Amino acid sequence: MDLNTVEAIVAPTDRAALADFGTGDAWLAGGSALFAEPNPHLRRLFDLTAFAWPALTRHAGGDLEIAATCTLAELSRIAVPADAPALGLALRCCQSLRGSFKVWNVGTVGGNICAALPAGPMTSLTAGLDGRCTIWSADGAERQVTVPELVVGDGRTSLCAGELLRSITLPAHALAARATMRQASLLPLGRSAALLIGRIDPDGTFHLTITASTPSAVQLRFADGLPSAADLVDAIDARLTSTDYFDDLHGTPAWRRHLTRTLAVEIRDELAAGAPDGAPS
Ligand SMILES: Cc1cc2nc3c(=O)[nH]c(=O)nc-3n(C[C@H](O)[C@H](O)[C@H](O)COP(=O)(O)OP(=O)(O)OC[C@H]3O[C@@H](n4cnc5c(N)ncnc54)[C@H](O)[C@@H]3O)c2cc1C
Repeated sequence: MDLNTVEAIVAPTDRAALADFGTGDAWLAGGSALFAEPNPHLRRLFDLTAFAWPALTRHAGGDLEIAATCTLAELSRIAVPADAPALGLALRCCQSLRGSFKVWNVGTVGGNICAALPAGPMTSLTAGLDGRCTIWSADGAERQVTVPELVVGDGRTSLCAGELLRSITLPAHALAARATMRQASLLPLGRSAALLIGRIDPDGTFHLTITASTPSAVQLRFADGLPSAADLVDAIDARLTSTDYFDDLHGTPAWRRHLTRTLAVEIRDELAAGAPDGAPS
């Protein structure tokens, strides 16, 4: 839809141009969420794509930096190197967003995370692989947070006024993990009601990240490796009461709780059986 209160588009190419970001301003990435609903308070948009940040950068040491402006289409095409098998989840997470061709090509990783929908698959992927978010503020400062520290609830982030998400860095140890995921929706092309990612790091630690069935990501860590199925369900129930599950038209809390337990055990069983890394289930 038209945002007909917007009077100007700023195309920043350096950080100095961010200094006067203020009331009535918003960051624009792909625009697929921003233009999807009325935003009558907006007067000006700062188009982050003008920075032309490299979409994907593999650093020495193996960390992968994903620019906030990397599109789902770009991320979905990433090659999966032998030392980063968990990257096989990137395509599967992109496919969990049931958007159109247009959303696929303009929607960005950062926009998906900052929209902060519980069903945001980029939040799932980056939380599941221990992503560290680099946050820029308009005054030139920079800070780092984890994904669960950034996306704190349904439509809520911990970004302060004038802050933007610059990039998300996936560390080499998580990329090297044996990882898999499960996703379920109420309707075949519906939003995720639950999206869980499990991984076993090179040091043997098992991590389970629960998203979509909860308002924000919930992470469980098992330093001694894979627990039994019963212990895994007990750990989930110890962490999440029946009222901690998300409730909207895409699924009731009771059903999401059932999905979460079931999909967690499926992930556990797949990893116990040594199924191929990142392979579709
Ligand atoms: C048909 C359809 C289906 C969809 N399905 C899903 C779905 O299943 N799950 C889901 O999560 N979303 C879904 N969406 C919503 C949306 O398309 C995606 O979340 C998309 O990834 C948003 O990315 P964007 O780059 O277009 O964000 P934009 O619309 O540009 O921005 C979204 C919000 O984040 C802010 N923002 C953007 N980038 C940054 C940044 N770097 N730093 C700080 N703030 C920033 C913007 O100001 C805005 O408030 C769907 C949309 C459509 C139209």
